[in-house]
Amino acid sequence: ELTVGAATAWLRGWAAAIGENEQHLTALDAAIGDADHGANLRRGAAAVIERWDAHPPTSVHEALTLAGEALVGTVGGASGPLFGTLLLRAAAEIGDRTTVDAATLAAALRAGTAGVRERGRVELGDKTMLDALVPAVDALDAALAGGQPLAEAMAAAAHAGRSARDATARMVARRGRASQLGDRSLGAIDPGSASAALLLDALAAALG
Ligand code: ADP
Ligand code: MG
Ligand code: MG
Repeated sequence: ELTVGAATAWLRGWAAAIGENEQHLTALDAAIGDADHGANLRRGAAAVIERWDAHPPTSVHEALTLAGEALVGTVGGASGPLFGTLLLRAAAEIGDRTTVDAATLAAALRAGTAGVRERGRVELGDKTMLDALVPAVDALDAALAGGQPLAEAMAAAAHAGRSARDATARMVARRGRASQLGDRSLGAIDPGSASAALLLDALAAALG
């Protein structure tokens, strides 16, 4: 079950991971983009925490909506509106439910991932954050269908997300700045897939 406490622990954990990995995310973006991914997400994560401090959320829906709005509104780069869309779509899927069970959380993550696909106009294999998110959501569904408890299923999903992040190195970018490099984007991990993997890890940790 995802409580409002777990939802805020999730994104606070993501914010902390972004802080710890800021230079790494920026280095990934320096290789195939414009070297601002770490700073973009640090700014976005700080805005999420500020919004929550000003207006402590009382439901999962409110927590994710405030966070999504903060990301859409404060990050200049492509990643902010996309992660923001993910959270806003997830919030919409959850609606006013007071308990978010495993099936609802899985549906919310799937809806959020569909939001990234639509807003970004990306498909699998384009070498973006979508390439980490989709395999993770698939793994979550499979683990839940296999009867695993949510915390374990989410840990499996996060593991799938990390493998999928690494697999983006074998893709040629077809969306975002890196697509300007064509074949020269081969060999590099997509920065947004790395921050998406951190998001999945943080959710697993918050549920664990
Ligand atoms: P910017 O490219 O504007 O500088 P960031 O560096 O913060 O933004 O984020 C770059 C990441 O955003 C990419 O690594 C990729 O994962 C993701 N991204 C960029 N464009 C798209 C898109 N159209 N759809 C999905 N993800 C995208
Ligand atoms: Mg960038
Ligand atoms: Mg930029």
